[in-house]
Amino acid sequence: SAKFFVGGNWKCNGTHASVEKLVADLNAGEVPSDIDVVVAPPFIYIDWVRANIKSAYKVAAQNCWSKPDGAYTGEISAEMLKDAGVPWVVTGHSERRLLLGESSGTVGLKTAHALDVGLSVIACIGETLEQRNAGNLYTTIDLQLQPLFENVKDWSRVVLAYEPVWAIGTGVVATPAQAQEVHAYVRKALTDRLGKTAAQSIRVIYGGSVTDANCNELATQEDIDGFLVGGASLKGEAFVRICNARA
Ligand code: 13P
Repeated sequence: SAKFFVGGNWKCNGTHASVEKLVADLNAGEVPSDIDVVVAPPFIYIDWVRANIKSAYKVAAQNCWSKPDGAYTGEISAEMLKDAGVPWVVTGHSERRLLLGESSGTVGLKTAHALDVGLSVIACIGETLEQRNAGNLYTTIDLQLQPLFENVKDWSRVVLAYEPVWAIGTGVVATPAQAQEVHAYVRKALTDRLGKTAAQSIRVIYGGSVTDANCNELATQEDIDGFLVGGASLKGEAFVRICNARA
């Protein structure tokens, strides 16, 4: 199966002091050398983290703008991330979709632009509880994937994160079977569109209340290639244990 991938999404959390402590704790931990580990601090701390974290960890931004530099007050371009040595960016997180009104179309465009600039992208999808309960789980996933299929030319630098909104920050983790069912659906969609070889090499990772207590069982599922971790990524020791879920 594809190389295991663990992302830590710090969201809008931290002070300089807490970031220093977290980086020290991560640097003290051992993560397998044959996996990808990426942490996504708030923009203002990225450069400090990049300079001070050990090379086993790469850094990501939590968002970027969909166009090159210009008159876009408050935004950060993919070009700037590239220039600052930030190799990864998260796109389409549900908090941005739901709290900031980011559409799937916008997510498709910004994902493609970030890839064109040379970044690697963790693109997020996932349904709300209302969508799931109304029987619209797979329609939602299809509608979120469609603009990615329409805009992304090179999938080799894309990681897809399935994050059911009802599991994010709630402590209600998807069961391994629930997560596997959706991951298998996503894998089939990738296979239909891109062919079997490409589909097998694209990491499909799970996010939503992943902890060091539930990660091992999730990591055994055939189509779960890693995790995107929120709350537990703010605790260095717990995050390191999650990085070792398959070790
Ligand atoms: P939690 O791990 O806090 O549920 O957050 C998941 C998430 O949104 C990661 O992007």
